[in-house]
Amino acid sequence: MHSSMSGKIEKAMRYAHEPDRVTFESFQATFAGDNGSHRVTLSDDALRCDCHLFDAAGGCTHTLAMQKMLDPMLTAAARETTLYGRADAVDSNEAVPV
Ligand SMILES: [Zn+2]
Repeated sequence: MHSSMSGKIEKAMRYAHEPDRVTFESFQATFAGDNGSHRVTLSDDALRCDCHLFDAAGGCTHTLAMQKMLDPMLTAAARETTLYGRADAVDSNEAVPV
């Protein structure tokens, strides 16, 4: 292998362990939840999900889990998606087991 190419690969391997070098601006992902798959998206510094809890509460287990997985690669604003962004909209009986 050409020596400059092996240097590039070494650098890539080092980068692969430095996730804070990457900031996601947008993405769309399928989240395999326990009760079905959900579409999680990131755009405009906000995580969103197509599940009914997100609709009701402005946050859900799927967005919270993605936030934890991707934390170093999210903007400060995207890190602030809360589990219950609109806590007043959630019936306590619908609380999600953590
Ligand atoms: Zn969800």
